[in-house]
Amino acid sequence: MSANKLSDNIVIDKLGRNLQDLRISITDKCNFRCRYCMPREVFDNNWEFLKRNELLTYEEILLVIDSFIKLGLKKVRLTGGEPLIRKDMHELIRIIKNKYPNLEIALTTNGSLLSHYSQKLKQAGLDRITISLDSLEPKLFEKMNDTKIPITQVLDGIKSVCDLNFKNIKINCVIKKGLNENQIIPLIEYFKNKNVILRFIEYMDVGNSNQWNMGQVFTKEDIIKKINSKYDFSLIGREKRSDVAEQWIEKNTNQKIEIISSISQPFCSNCTRARLSSDGKLYTCLFAFKGFDIKKILRENGDITTKIKEVWEQRDDQFSELRNEFITSQKKVEMSYIGG
Ligand code: SAM
Ligand code: SF4
Ligand code: SF4
Repeated sequence: MSANKLSDNIVIDKLGRNLQDLRISITDKCNFRCRYCMPREVFDNNWEFLKRNELLTYEEILLVIDSFIKLGLKKVRLTGGEPLIRKDMHELIRIIKNKYPNLEIALTTNGSLLSHYSQKLKQAGLDRITISLDSLEPKLFEKMNDTKIPITQVLDGIKSVCDLNFKNIKINCVIKKGLNENQIIPLIEYFKNKNVILRFIEYMDVGNSNQWNMGQVFTKEDIIKKINSKYDFSLIGREKRSDVAEQWIEKNTNQKIEIISSISQPFCSNCTRARLSSDGKLYTCLFAFKGFDIKKILRENGDITTKIKEVWEQRDDQFSELRNEFITSQKKVEMSYIGG
């Protein structure tokens, strides 16, 4: 197979979903302590982050991608933890893009280090970038993201990718009821004439640390009600069947926004995403209890392609659809290990 062409192979799970996307958490470390992801009382000075040799090297990540490509991979997203704190991560993008020019590469970042890296990321061949921003108010930003890094640093990062004319810029905004729904309208205003798509995400019960409860979820319906008290947004739908987000468009300004309704309207039936955790385990769902140790097989020179295929073919995850049946004391994987 030539590297210019991606494989036409298809691997199907038990519910008929093909393996198409891979999210790779390249580090479990982060310079923020967002309350909904890495609350400081859990991720404190005693928390043991992974040691260097526990992380996959960039060469190992490329080997994993080689295997996924053989199984039909079309898109990879690099995430974390905060991916930009891993040294020279733009080099990882460069080596993946050099080998697979047609593989779409995306990055999710909190934006705090972005101004410094945006040029390098563009030169390396990054196709898509998503930056997280939950509030435009400095005090609320500080509270939700629990960081002393000023919000201006994130806004400068967003500006730098806009100035470089990145094509696919998105802003992830997690809405927690009673906390930041008052930011929805200001965010829409702020990004109105910028080349970015704002996406609102329902607060999710990922990991075991954020003390989630349903009462804190500002649902898609709540979001629509709020925005349409001022604007006239109507549904376009999903760009691709497997997309997590639905797009909406404003009648008068043509501004597009997206909503991810994993809690109130789950979309497991079209979920084509595999996840590689920062410690080299393969997970087939964001809410999984167990991963498969790909790093171990890789370091023993084993056949990871066959293992990945076997794992995917056994997959029957649909956590969000069956949420209420999963009330258990079993521990889920943490978001910072597995990425968003
Ligand atoms: N550190 C990077 C960032 O924040 O963009 C990448 C990793 S972060 C885990 C990926 C995405 O997951 C972010 O957009 C974040 O807002 C989202 N996220 C984290 N915890 C969440 C939760 N409990 N519910 C919904 N989204 C969450
Ligand atoms: Fe860090 Fe991203 Fe989690 Fe916030 S959401 S703590 S920035 S990994
Ligand atoms: Fe996919 Fe699991 Fe999310 Fe459902 S709950 S959409 S299977 S990651």
